[in-house]
Amino acid sequence: MDRKHYEIVILEQYCKGCGLCIEFCKKGKLYIRQMPNKQGIQTAAVHEDVDCTGCLHCATMCPDAAIEVTQVDVPVGKAAADGAQG
Ligand code: SF4
Ligand code: SF4
Repeated sequence: MDRKHYEIVILEQYCKGCGLCIEFCKKGKLYIRQMPNKQGIQTAAVHEDVDCTGCLHCATMCPDAAIEVTQVDVPVGKAAADGAQG
């Protein structure tokens, strides 16, 4: 079966830590960092171990266009191996 994977990148220079993206991600992939950055902002961050469905809700809701969602190709062999392990 075709397994799609998505990569989320938070563009921290644009993120103001409003938390909207976290509210709209049903997968719980996003969170707010405890440590503020140099500007004193607790930016959004990504749980690498949580699956992303690629729904784009986070990127659509972000008022500052601070989220990039990219579909990444996974080699068929690797996807099959991952499936076998899971
Ligand atoms: S694309 Fe959808 S599932 Fe993925 S992080 Fe954004 S809201 Fe969550
Ligand atoms: S919605 Fe955008 S600005 Fe707000 S916390 Fe998420 S990434 Fe940052």
